[in-house]
Amino acid sequence: MLDPTGERPMTDTDAGSDPDPDADFDGGNGTGESAGRERPLSLFDHLDTVRDRLAHASGLLLCTDFDGTLAPITDDPGDTEITAANEEALRTIADREGVAVAAVSGRAVEDVADRIGIEGIAYAGNHGLELARDGDTTVHPPAAARVEDIEAVLGELEDRLGEVDGCVFEDKGVTATIHYRQAASEDVPTIETAVDETLDEYGERLECSSGKEVFEIGPATPWDKGQVVSLLAEDTPEGWISAYLGDDTTDETAFRALGEDGISVFVGDETEETAAQYRVPDPEGVARFLEWLTDEGTEAIASDRSPGDR
Ligand SMILES: [Mg+2]
Repeated sequence: MLDPTGERPMTDTDAGSDPDPDADFDGGNGTGESAGRERPLSLFDHLDTVRDRLAHASGLLLCTDFDGTLAPITDDPGDTEITAANEEALRTIADREGVAVAAVSGRAVEDVADRIGIEGIAYAGNHGLELARDGDTTVHPPAAARVEDIEAVLGELEDRLGEVDGCVFEDKGVTATIHYRQAASEDVPTIETAVDETLDEYGERLECSSGKEVFEIGPATPWDKGQVVSLLAEDTPEGWISAYLGDDTTDETAFRALGEDGISVFVGDETEETAAQYRVPDPEGVARFLEWLTDEGTEAIASDRSPGDR
């Protein structure tokens, strides 16, 4: 069901003169022709709707990607740091009553936990194949069985591509990433061919997906950010709403998993297609939203529920 290209039909057409932000979420007739404008909507034009949705919920599960979302992307992934504003806001939100926070990243779980450094929140690494929460780290069993294959494929690729300038190999345990952000564009087809041919030897056991100037090699198992976000959401109390922030194609699975019941925020350019409902332009926009959540947003939670609902 998942579309690896991240493409999807736009759900709204014919931008009208009356921008009723609720129309997209509450009044749709399911035909995709119902009302409104093209999505994603600019988040900061629709904070009132988000506040209303939080007011009707009894709690919030806030899930967020790391690279390109909490942290600006850097040439060397080893240099990437969460912005001070995002760290402070996330820390404050994590302490709020009725809120749970989870970071969901393509990085290894220890790596993303170190880079965010906030205790008491959940960390999902390797696109959800690893999950650290409540002091325990679990690895999705089919992925644990492929660790040796990952190690072997990475060794082969390092032998084959070691001479290509700017090609960086990252061993993430249950997955591996080949970064080519710093490689010359004429070398990219060589890298892609090497990845394809090497993976062929592993038949159905491993698969490759591409992200922002990376090839991600992992176990061929139907598990992604969307599935781990669904698992986290299932564990929240009745009546909670889930939110997800992310900037890359792998985040689309999480946007789709939340569907219209959740609050999905794409971080990036308005020209990019996404299944998310809302958009902010960059990690500074994420900070602005998180800062809004620290007071107005989290204060709104459950404010419009009858006592029996809480
Ligand atoms: Mg990202």
